[in-house]
Amino acid sequence: MSQQRVLIIGAGQAGGQLALQLRQKGFTGSIDLLGEESSAPYERPALSKGILTGKQTTEDLLLCPAAAYSEQDITLHLKTRVKQLDLANRQVHTGNGQTLEFDILVFATGATPRPLPLPGSDLPGVHLLRTDADAMAIKRQLQDASTIAIIGAGFIGMEVAASARSLGIATHVMETGPRIMSRSLPAFLADKITELHTSQDNRIHCNAGLKGFNGKDQVTAVEFQDGSELKVDAVIVGIGVTPNTQLAETAGLACDNGILTDARGQTSVPDVYAIGDCAASYLPRYARQQRLESYQNANLQAENVVANILGTHSEYNPVPWLWSDQYHWQIQTLGFPAEAEQWLQRGTLESDRKEIHLGFTGGKLNTVVSIAEGTAAAADVKVLQRLIEMDAQPDTDQLCNPDIKLKALLKQTKN
Ligand code: NAP
Repeated sequence: MSQQRVLIIGAGQAGGQLALQLRQKGFTGSIDLLGEESSAPYERPALSKGILTGKQTTEDLLLCPAAAYSEQDITLHLKTRVKQLDLANRQVHTGNGQTLEFDILVFATGATPRPLPLPGSDLPGVHLLRTDADAMAIKRQLQDASTIAIIGAGFIGMEVAASARSLGIATHVMETGPRIMSRSLPAFLADKITELHTSQDNRIHCNAGLKGFNGKDQVTAVEFQDGSELKVDAVIVGIGVTPNTQLAETAGLACDNGILTDARGQTSVPDVYAIGDCAASYLPRYARQQRLESYQNANLQAENVVANILGTHSEYNPVPWLWSDQYHWQIQTLGFPAEAEQWLQRGTLESDRKEIHLGFTGGKLNTVVSIAEGTAAAADVKVLQRLIEMDAQPDTDQLCNPDIKLKALLKQTKN
């Protein structure tokens, strides 16, 4: 086992973590890590926040310095696209004309931002945001901008809007749907987040009928279907992503909005795994295949596949968690908030600096949304994650009482 050759396609956070953890856990075979970007693996969360506001540099985002890969005998192939995968002969052919062999293959191919199919979307000044290069291009443009439009009121849209407002730029978020963050939040919480943004003078236009973008050498306006225009200096589009599955599909792997894997991370082909944004893994807790597009998912799926490659049976079974920093507030979610049947509330942002919304399905606590000043709810969310993992059903009156410590409820549950 230890002299096997592992090849990882995709050198983002998931692929980079897998390579580093595999070595740290004692794997002595060869590791080839292939990525199309020119940067060594980095974390993406700050691209819409600290990078745009100048609080962080792209160097800060690296999982480790590029030199550390060769020091750990990991062969990092940057600017390398895999052109063809020959599963029968266990080889990949790259766009640079190389052929590399493997015993174990890991797809960590990530996802691609959906382009906006509207006239003028290809004008300079209309940006997508996925890579460090995209973020740097947006940052340069924000330096001289006074008004920007953001298309899509999801995570990217709301975070970019908050970053731009903190730089004093006028922001207009355009959402075709009736409310913001509809994939991730129920309506009443979307309304709450809308209020927070409105309090910071971010203008949100739901049910926005967009016609396209105008400009000659650079975008200068958003045009609406009624013929009216909004003058802008830049446009940032964040309307979701599609998983990069083409190579896997061509090679015959089972895919359905993501590369299908079992809870071990293995695809429909033995010794071929998939992790991160490209993987639609079986989640035993929810009894379904699900793609999760988060920082936590990239790290934990990498850890899970490392264990399986090293011969320890491991099943990925998370309570999905993510956070989003917008202005001085941090939003965190556990589980799938858009699916809850019933909600209760613990505390209020106004009097407790944090409010925690507890979502129930079939009478069981299974999802949480916290809205807090900074990290004020971080410890609470960790405890709630543990309670959901344990399938515990604490008394709801106690759960909703901010004077009762959640840790005490966890302790009671354990006893
Ligand atoms: P997203 O969170 O899926 O949001 C996309 C938004 O765009 C949705 O509100 C969607 O509405 C809307 N939309 C779709 N088509 C549109 C159109 N033609 N015009 C206007 N709005 C449209 O995706 P994202 O914000 O682009 O983020 C990309 C990925 O990065 C996601 O996987 C996200 O999870 C991840 N990310 C995560 C974080 C975090 O965890 N803090 C931060 C940034 C990015 P409908 O839902 O109604 O289609």
